[in-house]
Amino acid sequence: MRTLSKDIINKVGEKVLLKGWVDVRRDHGKLIFIDLRDRWGKVQVIFNPKDAELLKLADRLRSEWVVAIEGEVKERPKGMENSEIATGNVEIAATNLEILSEAKTPPFDISGVGFDIGEDNRLKYRYLDLRRNRLQKNMSLRADIISFMREYLRDLDFTEVETPILTKSTPEGARDYVVPSRLQPGNFYALPQSPQQYKQLLMVAGLERYFQIARCFRDEDTRGDRQPEFTQLDLEMSFVSREEIMELVEGLFAGLTEKLFPNKKILKKPFPRITYKEAMEKYGTDRPDLRENKEDPNELAFCFVIDFPMFEKKDDGTFGAVHHPFTKIRNCGEDAKEVVASLEEGPNEDMLSEQYDLVLNGNEIGGGSIREHRAEVLEKVFMALGHTKKEVQEKFGHLLEAFDYGVPPHGGIAPGIDRFVMILTGEPNIREVIAFPKTGDGRDLMMSAPSELDKKQLDELGLSIKRKKK
Ligand code: ASP
Repeated sequence: MRTLSKDIINKVGEKVLLKGWVDVRRDHGKLIFIDLRDRWGKVQVIFNPKDAELLKLADRLRSEWVVAIEGEVKERPKGMENSEIATGNVEIAATNLEILSEAKTPPFDISGVGFDIGEDNRLKYRYLDLRRNRLQKNMSLRADIISFMREYLRDLDFTEVETPILTKSTPEGARDYVVPSRLQPGNFYALPQSPQQYKQLLMVAGLERYFQIARCFRDEDTRGDRQPEFTQLDLEMSFVSREEIMELVEGLFAGLTEKLFPNKKILKKPFPRITYKEAMEKYGTDRPDLRENKEDPNELAFCFVIDFPMFEKKDDGTFGAVHHPFTKIRNCGEDAKEVVASLEEGPNEDMLSEQYDLVLNGNEIGGGSIREHRAEVLEKVFMALGHTKKEVQEKFGHLLEAFDYGVPPHGGIAPGIDRFVMILTGEPNIREVIAFPKTGDGRDLMMSAPSELDKKQLDELGLSIKRKKK
């Protein structure tokens, strides 16, 4: 059976079988040394010239070859220990070597942190880039964070539900990615900008506490550190207040940080609640950086920004929703008739919403809101945003209809996972914490996506491509 590199320190004197990659090879006189690398670390292996045949085979080894090595675990001679690796007090005296696969010389060095290598090259050979220690650690921390989230919410009786990827447009303020339908030619699915409507429908369905590690797709022009697809911890609860959601989120993020990042210090608990107005006046931004010492990588200043405006005026004079249209208005009275009357007068920027944003060190980590669950009010919100009654029916009729069948008041939030992992690992951008990210212009350089379709596929889909004249 295979032994993992991390387990050999307890096996001095035993015979083991190790499998992994040749990290480096060093020749000292007649001896050949290699560092064998597996996911858990590295271990030094020695090939002794006494076994001429074995030495000859070992002489062929190069970096990144994949091997199986049998040998005896020995304590290293005094003075030869290497305190830099966990297995530095032991080494393997090889008795057998099997070459499982050979490797070309990688197009770049994978032993360092990799920031000096052109990113296009790193993305093209991402499977090699991911071999570097820094990225291996990022992937494993990301998985730990997601596991913590799952366990935390499962303990609170949340149900994890998968919602469709092939769906209909939900406005989150971006352009949709669309997928042509073969069976309904001329019709298109939209990839979800978020599972917003599904999670609200799950509340109508009586699930009460839902979460999902959800992939979201937004077709936006390259704007800094964004990805066409990204991951959110999407959650929704019935019969909750804004404060209860914030407390839940605080418990989750504080608990997670304390367990997985014990060296980090959360500046203030409870996380401060700051109104949008105060944030803008005092810090000039709706995602204030409340750290006392911005040079300190271990300081984490979480806060919630609340009382956002419901609507914002766009350049063309029309109004858009600051969060999204499903958000409840806060300051137009409790009675549905009152809110409808205010909306009929037209939206304005003094209307506040039940939105809350979670902010960490000046980054928006997630946004959410208590939703408008009264169909007659929600319909008016859509109309205030410029939709005709007919358009509202076409686009959101399914949700309004669902709300006619006994809808619990509900609310939720969706913290972004990529950005949170980025901050906690101290990485400069989210691509460093995503296994297979895309370039700024939305390309996957490893898979060469997007790519053209052949004529047969286009015909099946009833599509023809209009080429732009160059
Ligand atoms: N769907 C929202 C978003 O993606 C989050 C929410 O309101 O729960 O920002």
